[in-house]
Amino acid sequence: MNDPAGRLRKPTLAAKDGAPAAPIDHLRIEAAVRELLLAVGEDPDREGLQETPARVARMYAEVFAGLHKDPREHLRKTFTQKYDEMVLVKDIRFASLCEHHLLPFIGKAHIAYLPKGKIIGLSKLARVVEVLSRRPQVQERMAEELADLLMTELGARGVGVIVEASHTCMTIRGVRKADSVCTTSAMRGGFRDHEATRAELLSLVYGSRG
Ligand SMILES: [Zn+2]
Repeated sequence: MNDPAGRLRKPTLAAKDGAPAAPIDHLRIEAAVRELLLAVGEDPDREGLQETPARVARMYAEVFAGLHKDPREHLRKTFTQKYDEMVLVKDIRFASLCEHHLLPFIGKAHIAYLPKGKIIGLSKLARVVEVLSRRPQVQERMAEELADLLMTELGARGVGVIVEASHTCMTIRGVRKADSVCTTSAMRGGFRDHEATRAELLSLVYGSRG
């Protein structure tokens, strides 16, 4: 791909030391999955498992594709608009993998912001959620990363993010709380400083649920 400015390889939020994440190494994943099957006492050469390492490698390349994308790309195109009321997008569905168990957690994000002269296409918020969820994640950090990104890139007066998800590491193992939903939030600017603004967001998100 023609990428003279090196934009696609820009450090992502996932790379804490500022270095870009290494590309996905399929062969290395395959070797590791084969090793894992041996370690649990399976026979990786039996018919049903022969293709599994390659399948898992392709799956990881897909579910961790966000490691190699810069979410800020989706926030560059803004529109000048004299609108200063809350913008809220509810129920942005996502699936991610918890970094503690590499098991899926699935849920939705609600994102609100208070514009300061600049607004963004609504679908871009879903794109940003997509990039951040396709990384080894913890739900708490995901909410904070979303909030900080929007504050910085949009210069918003405030951002409120609520993430609700069900974690399979809780539903299929450990305490096995099948119905538990974990809620995390990150409030910045006006949403943190003004209780009325925060209350408005909460009632818009939860109000209809009674
Ligand atoms: Zn977990």
